[in-house]
Amino acid sequence: MHVLIVGGGVVGLACAHALADRGAEVTVCEAGTLGGGSTGRAAGGIRTQFSTRVNVELSLASVPVWESFADDFGVDIDYRRSGYLFLARSEETAAAFRENVAMQTDAGAPSRVLSPAEATEYLPELRTESFVAATFSAADGVADPHSAVQGYSDAVRVAGVDVRTKTPVTDLARVGDDGLDDGATETAAATAADFGGWRAETPDGPIDADAVVVAAGAWSGRVAALAGVDLPLAPRRRQIAVVEPEGDLPADAPLTIDLDTGAYFRPEREGTAIVGGHFSESDPDADPDRFDESMDLEWAVEATERADDAAAYFGPETRIRNGWAGLYAVTPDHHAILDEVAPGLVVAAGFSGHGFQHAPATGEAVADLCLGEDVCGVDVSALSLDRFESGEMLRERNVA
Ligand SMILES: Cc1cc2nc3c(=O)[nH]c(=O)nc-3n(C[C@H](O)[C@H](O)[C@H](O)COP(=O)(O)OP(=O)(O)OC[C@H]3O[C@@H](n4cnc5c(N)ncnc54)[C@H](O)[C@@H]3O)c2cc1C
Repeated sequence: MHVLIVGGGVVGLACAHALADRGAEVTVCEAGTLGGGSTGRAAGGIRTQFSTRVNVELSLASVPVWESFADDFGVDIDYRRSGYLFLARSEETAAAFRENVAMQTDAGAPSRVLSPAEATEYLPELRTESFVAATFSAADGVADPHSAVQGYSDAVRVAGVDVRTKTPVTDLARVGDDGLDDGATETAAATAADFGGWRAETPDGPIDADAVVVAAGAWSGRVAALAGVDLPLAPRRRQIAVVEPEGDLPADAPLTIDLDTGAYFRPEREGTAIVGGHFSESDPDADPDRFDESMDLEWAVEATERADDAAAYFGPETRIRNGWAGLYAVTPDHHAILDEVAPGLVVAAGFSGHGFQHAPATGEAVADLCLGEDVCGVDVSALSLDRFESGEMLRERNVA
């Protein structure tokens, strides 16, 4: 079984790792450099506090991999289990928190509902008067996405995966199948009789595979379109600022999300902090090949002020050091598409801002889909593409 993975971000590499581990022959084609897409721009947050079971289960299946990553992959990913703290300003949000925590604990996550006063145990300078409730999970934390890419890429190379960087897939045609055969050459069609899979075109020549995995992040809509498949996936620009807080944000403070405003922050290295969030009503689709990768200063000032509204670390003396922008690949219900969308064509995309943390479990789920196995242990059938047509969409409320 030869599987071609399109995209060398953390998701594509985790898929390559799981597939190679189960004995498949794997090729990864990456248009640029490994981790050079959204993965290298992520905040590194890892949390079990989602509002749907499938997201919680993907997290619970991924967390053990992050925990033992240094031992298993030989790369220190700076994994810090400092928790996530969600904050509610309204009773409506607090009620949703209670429902979420009941579901999360039922699934096995150690989340708890806290009063604002109780939450100061984790975030001493929390502006308790602004909030009505909080939730905290000690299973949550952060890790460094760059190091995770390093660990996965070292491991897949050792496992014999053919990793080709600077190798964009420019066309995809199913061969030996009258339905989607439009791009196939005569030679491809002949080869199809032997293997009945896919032919990918690249600048270095074609690659034949039994299955193709679309793990191209915000580019996945374009890649799937090469195979004639439409994905409801919008690339949306999101920013991060690195700041020097005015107050002493403890190094072990949780990643804190003020859910009613969408602002979030967490400690970074050497006394700095990361602040983020999307605050504008307008949220146009971005062109993944041509979006502004720099941070807007005005946005950074707003993000810092909103962080200060939640906790008294980010007053007017806070210095904005630097920042960047990257892309979320957003689906209409803020859940990934994990599905075999056409014979031998598996999509692992649309993580809507949480694909870094879900990469380990995604790799196993994708290997199951490619190999017809049932190893992952997470039922990802709710993440099928046809949910958008059948109206069985999910709803993830914990989005920042
Ligand atoms: C500001 C920001 C903060 C975030 N914070 C978090 C967080 O705290 N926690 C979390 O879990 N997630 C977070 N995310 C989301 C996370 O970054 C993504 O969900 C995750 O990185 C997706 O990984 P990926 O491998 O699918 O995509 P990518 O890392 O984007 O990789 C896709 C790759 O496909 C390649 N590609 C594209 N087209 C082709 C082609 N035709 N042929 C070959 N290769 C191609 C691209 O070059 C790219 O390298 C954040 C994202 C942003 C932007």
